[in-house]
Amino acid sequence: MCAPLVFELGAGRSARGVMHYISTRGGVAPVGFAEALMMGLGTDGGLLVPERLPQVDADCLRAWSDLSFQALALEIMTPFVGGDIPRSHLARLIDRSYASFSHPAVTPLREAAGRTYLELFHGPTAAFKDVALQLLGNLFEYFLERDGGQLNIVGATSGDTGSAAIYGVRGKPRINIFILHPKGRVSPVQERQMTTVLDANVHNIAVRGTFDDCQHLVKTLFRDLDFKARHSLGAVNSINWLRILAQTVYYFYAWGQISGGDTARQVSFAVPTGNFGDVFAGWLARRMGLPIDRLVIATNRNDILARFVADGRYAKGEVFHTLSPAMDIQVASNFERYLYYLLDQDPGAVCAKLADLEATGQLDVDPAQLRQVQADFAAAAVSDAQTLAQIRSTYETSGYILCPHTAVGAVASRDAPETVVLATAHPAKFNEAVREAIGREAPPPPALEGLMDKPVRCTELGASDAELRAHIDAALAAI
Ligand SMILES: *Cc1c(COP(=O)(O)O)cnc(C)c1O
Repeated sequence: MCAPLVFELGAGRSARGVMHYISTRGGVAPVGFAEALMMGLGTDGGLLVPERLPQVDADCLRAWSDLSFQALALEIMTPFVGGDIPRSHLARLIDRSYASFSHPAVTPLREAAGRTYLELFHGPTAAFKDVALQLLGNLFEYFLERDGGQLNIVGATSGDTGSAAIYGVRGKPRINIFILHPKGRVSPVQERQMTTVLDANVHNIAVRGTFDDCQHLVKTLFRDLDFKARHSLGAVNSINWLRILAQTVYYFYAWGQISGGDTARQVSFAVPTGNFGDVFAGWLARRMGLPIDRLVIATNRNDILARFVADGRYAKGEVFHTLSPAMDIQVASNFERYLYYLLDQDPGAVCAKLADLEATGQLDVDPAQLRQVQADFAAAAVSDAQTLAQIRSTYETSGYILCPHTAVGAVASRDAPETVVLATAHPAKFNEAVREAIGREAPPPPALEGLMDKPVRCTELGASDAELRAHIDAALAAI
C-alpha cells in the first residue's frame, strides 16, 4: 500500500506520479496537493495524509546536507506538491515566504550552556508557527489566483496562532481573515501583534468572553454549511497538511548542519509539544529516512501525551494554565495522524479508536502498539518550577534566555544533553515568565520592537453568534 517513491536528483527531475491525499478516516476521495491545502480538515472530519511517503536515500541526504533552508525546502516539498505548482514557481514562493525571516539561515542552530537549540523564532511573529504559515499564505494566494475564487478565513486564538495566521495572509487580495481573541485574556504582546496589523483584509475581533467562547462561536459558524459556502469560509488551524510538511524541513536542515552529510550520524530532538504538529513533523522526517535517534515529546503539566507514551492510554484530563501557554492543550489535534500510522493506515481502526475516545474520554492501544510508540518517542512532563529553574540556570551559565516552552524541551531532555532542543518562541514573547525566572526581561527581537507604540484596529463584540454573523456579513459586503 505504501510503495516508496524515490526522489530523483538533478535539475528538472519530477516525482514519479502525482501525490494524492486521503483522510485518516477513509471518507475523502483522493485529492491533489492544492485541494488538500484548501480543504484543511478532511470533509469527513479526518486529517489528510499523503497516500505514500517519499523515501530519502543516503545519496540524497548527503547531497542535501549543505543546501540552504530554502533550497532544501524545495527538494523536500517537490514530491509532495506532485506537479501542482511548477518547480520554478514553487522555488519563488518558498523564497518569498522566508524572506520575511530576520536570520539568513532561517532556522539557525545556537549553542548555549552545553546544549544546542534550533531557533525557530526568527519569523515576523517570533514563534515557530511562522515557518509554516508564511508559506501557507503564499500558497493560498497562488491557488486562488490560478483557480479564481476567494477565501475568508475565520479562526479563534488564545495567543500565537492568530498573529502567525494574520501575518501569513496580510495584504493578500483574494483573502480576508477574521481572528477572534478573548478580550483582555491574551498577553499584551500577543494582542498587539494582531491588532497593529492594519491591512484592510485583516479583521481583529475582541470577544467579551473566554477562549472557549471564541472557539465555540467559530465552530457554530462552520456548522452552518450555508453561511460557510456563501462566504467561502476557511480555517487556518494546526491540522492543515502544509503545517506538517513545512516543519519537516528544519529537522532535515538541522541534521545536515550537525552531521555534515555523514549518514551514520543520528541526531536526537526534544520538541515542546501541544497539538502534536511539530513533533509529528519530526516523526515524519524520520519515516522518510532522516537519521533521527530519539524524539522527545516535551509537555508541561498538561501531560496527556507523556502519559500515553508511558502506558498506552490516551485519556483526556483537565486543562491547567501554565507558564508555557501554547502547550496548555489536552486533546492534541494532530495525534490522529500518528494514530493512523500506528494502526497500519487502517481508517476503520482509526474510527473505532476515536469512537472509544468520544464515548469514554480515553483510548487504549495494545502491548505491541505500545512498544512501537515507545520506540518512536520518549516523553516527559515538566512542571512550572522546573521550567523557571531551567531558564535561570541557562541564563546564569551562558547569558542565553530561553522562552518557557523551549525550557520545557531542555528539561525533558536533560539526561541526554546532545539532544537538539527546538526553540519554539522568542523569550520576549513570554516576558512574564522570563522576569519571574531571572528578574529581567528579554530584549525584543526586530519583530516585536516598538509594538506597544503602534496604532491598533480591533472590533469588540459580545460572545454572540448573531453579532459575529452580522459583523462578517457587513465587512464582506463592504469590499
Ligand atoms: C504552538 C506552539 C507549541 C506547540 O506546538 P504543537 O505543534 O502544537 O505541538 C510550542 N511552543 C510554542 C511557542 C508554540 O507557539
